[in-house]
Order: sequence, then C-alpha cells, then structure tokens
Amino acid sequence: MFNSEKYQSVLAQVSKYQARLVVVSKTQPIESLKAAHAAGVRVMAENRVQELLSRYEALPKDIEWHLIGHLQTNKVKYIAPFVACIHSVDSLGLLQEINKRATQHQRVIPCLLQMHIAEEESKFGLNLTELEDLLQNPVLKTLSHVKIIGLMGMGTLTEDREKTHSEFRFLKQCYDRVRSMYHGQIFEWRELSMGMSGDFDLALAEGSTMVRVGSLLF
Ligand SMILES: *Cc1c(COP(=O)(O)O)cnc(C)c1O
Repeated sequence: MFNSEKYQSVLAQVSKYQARLVVVSKTQPIESLKAAHAAGVRVMAENRVQELLSRYEALPKDIEWHLIGHLQTNKVKYIAPFVACIHSVDSLGLLQEINKRATQHQRVIPCLLQMHIAEEESKFGLNLTELEDLLQNPVLKTLSHVKIIGLMGMGTLTEDREKTHSEFRFLKQCYDRVRSMYHGQIFEWRELSMGMSGDFDLALAEGSTMVRVGSLLF
C-alpha cells in the first residue's frame, strides 16, 4: 500500500533541495495509485508503455505521467497525446519519431537524454561521446515539437555508496558540460533526473533536480 507518511518525509527532503519527486508507480496495484493520488501525488512514472497507457486511463486526469523505461519507436504514438516527460531518449531516430507524433497532436514533448553511467552492461543509454554526437547533429535544429530539457541516469545496483556517488558526480559533470555548450531552440536545460529509493539522498547532494522513487513509498 502507499505509505503517505514516508511520502511526506521524502517530499520534505526533496523540497529542501528544490528538486522534484517523481513517484514511480510501476508494478503497484491500481488501488495503491489511487491512494497516492488521494495523498496528493500528481507526478507518476511508469517504465512500460502499456502500463503507462492503462494507468493514465484509469486515474484522474490531473496526474502528470512520465515514462522512465526504454521506449521503442513504434510505441511512441500511444503516449504522444498525453505524456508529460520522457526520461529515456537515447537515439536520434527516437527523438525524430517523438517530434513527428508530438506535431500531430500539436504538442511539444519534454525529453531527457538517458546516459549509461552504471557498471552493468546495458543496451540502453548513451556514453559521453554518443551524447555529444547526438547533440551536434544538425537534424536537431529541425525538430520543433520536442524540447531536450536534461539528462537521466541510473547508478550501478550496488551496496557500495561511494561507487554510486561517483557515478552521480560524473553524470552531473556531463550535465554541466552539455548545458554550457549546447544552446538553441531545441534545448531548455533544466533537469537532471537521478536517484531512486536506495540512493536519492546521494543524488540530491550531487545536484539532482528530479528523483524517481518507487519501492520506498509503497
Ligand atoms: C524502477 C525504476 C525506478 C524506481 O526504483 P525504486 O528502487 O523502486 O525506487 C527509477 N528509475 C527507473 C528508470 C526505474 O526503472
């Protein structure tokens, strides 16, 4: 069940840093999401398109829905009408498809570029070279219905807090670098999405502006 006391205490901690708390509702039963809404939660995130859709349909319309998991190009059309933020963009092709669908719905969709900062092998996320290649691509100038608002990353799943800490520090350095170097219509650098249940305190200390917290709140 949703633990609203825990939510209030995490929210207080996050607010001290003027950051935002994104409540990760994935895998939780719909009743728990309704309880979260009743307790005041208005920003929720799912990692799969199908769940994002069904929960958007089942819950009150004043909730801002974020996608935090891998997004396949052929599924962008389902979420384009309503998604408030996509944290997991890691290719130009995906960005182009989001732009196309956003245009059809006369929306501008805020996107974060996902970086791979963890030690674990992953097909998803960009390294710094790939990130900069993407940011330098002239095609970006033609995309009028997406905004690149920041970076997202996940630390290694480990008990070693110092390791997680240095990964967050690295992501913050990347963020500061691209923010100072890349300007233009498509950029609106303002979010650094890092930190989950086990490490959001470290992430806040390193400059996170959005923490994505799930299991700790339920
Ligand atoms: C599941 C998930 C979270 C939340 O993880 P918790 O440990 O449950 O807080 C955050 N970000 C992403 C990308 C996730 O998939």
